[in-house]
Amino acid sequence: MRFARMVAAGGAFAMAAALVACGSSAKTTESSSGGDTAGALVGVTMPTKSSERWISDGNNVKKALEDAGYKVDLQYAEDDIPTQANQIENQITKGAKLLIIAAINGTALTSQLQLAKDSNIPVISYDRLIRNSPNVDYYTSFDNFKVGVQQGTSLLTGLKIKNEDGSEGSAKGPFNIELFAGSPDDNNAPFFFDGAMSVLKPYIDKGTLVVRSKQTDFKTVAILRWKAETAQRRMEDLITKFYGGAKVNGVLSPYDGLSIGILSALKSAGYGTAGQPYPVVTGQDAEVASVKSINAGEQYSTIFKDTRELAKVTAKMADEVLKGNKPETNNDKDYDNGVKVVPAYLLQPVIVVKGNYEKLLVESGYYQAGQLK
Ligand code: BGC
Repeated sequence: MRFARMVAAGGAFAMAAALVACGSSAKTTESSSGGDTAGALVGVTMPTKSSERWISDGNNVKKALEDAGYKVDLQYAEDDIPTQANQIENQITKGAKLLIIAAINGTALTSQLQLAKDSNIPVISYDRLIRNSPNVDYYTSFDNFKVGVQQGTSLLTGLKIKNEDGSEGSAKGPFNIELFAGSPDDNNAPFFFDGAMSVLKPYIDKGTLVVRSKQTDFKTVAILRWKAETAQRRMEDLITKFYGGAKVNGVLSPYDGLSIGILSALKSAGYGTAGQPYPVVTGQDAEVASVKSINAGEQYSTIFKDTRELAKVTAKMADEVLKGNKPETNNDKDYDNGVKVVPAYLLQPVIVVKGNYEKLLVESGYYQAGQLK
C-alpha cells in the first residue's frame, strides 16, 4: 500500500528519495556517487526464461522499480551458472547500487557477493535463498515449507484420504505413490520436500500410502535444475521397474514443469484413459499449461504463488534499502543460509484445483480467461 502510494506520488517521490538519500551518509547504501540513490541502477538476475514464472517475476520487478524511478538491468541466464555469475559481475561494473538475485545454484555466487559487498552494494535474494555467504542482506519469498505442506495435502485430498476441510476422508488405501523433489542446489527444494513429507510420512508409516520404489529420501528423488525431461525419464523408469502388475495412484511433483514430464511418462504407459485414469499429480506455480491440464482433468493440483506480489514487496524492499531505511520483514528466524539467518519477507501460497482456479487465477486478473482455454 505504502509503496503504491509512493509510486503514485511520482516525481515528488523521486525528489524525496533523493533528499533522504543525501541526508543519510552514515547509512548502508552510501555509494561512490555520494549516497544519492534516486534513479539508481538496480541489477536484477533471474534463472531462466524456460519457465513462465521467472519471465513474469523479471518483468514485474523491473516495472515496479521503474515506476519508482529506478533504472533496471534485467538478465536471464538459461540455467547456466557461470553466465549468471558473469551477469552479476557486469552489473557491479555498470554501477548497480543494489542487486536482486534469483540464483540458479544457491551456493555458487560467493565471490560475486564479496565483490558486491566490497563495492557497498546491498543484495536481496529473490525467491531462492543464496547460501554460504554473509553478503546477503535480505530475502523475499513465499513460505516454502508451507508450499510443500500444501502439495502433500492436495495429494491426500486428491486421493480422498483427506477432505478439503482437513477432516479424514472416505478412502483408506493402500495407494501407490511416487515422490519427486526439486533441484538439490536450490535452497527451496528441501523446504518443499520436507513440508510435503511432514504431511505424507504418517500415511506412509501406517501403510495407507505405499512407495513401491522405496525411493523416499530427498537426494534420490531430486531432479537437478528442475528439468522436465529428467523427471519424465525417472517416471518411465519407475513404471518399468516397479509397476509390472500395479498402478500408480499418486505422484508428488514439486513444480508444474516436472508434472508435465511425469504426465507424459504416464501417458506413454497407458494412463489417461477412462479405464486407467491419471494418478493424482501435484505441481507448483500455476503455469498456463498446467492450469489447462488441471481443467482437462489430467494434473490434479498446483500451488499458486502470486509473483505480482513478490515483485511488489521486493521492489518496495529495494526502495527502502536504497533510501537507507530498514525494510519490513516478517520472518527473521527460518532462513539460515549456512553463515547467517537472513531476514525475510514471506508471502503465502495457495492450493489450486479444478474447482477454484477461475476464482484464484482469473478473477484476480493473474490470467485472462482466454489464456486458459
Ligand atoms: C521456485 C518455484 C519453481 C522452481 C522451479 C523454485 O525455486 O520457488 O516456484 O517452481 O524454483 O523453477
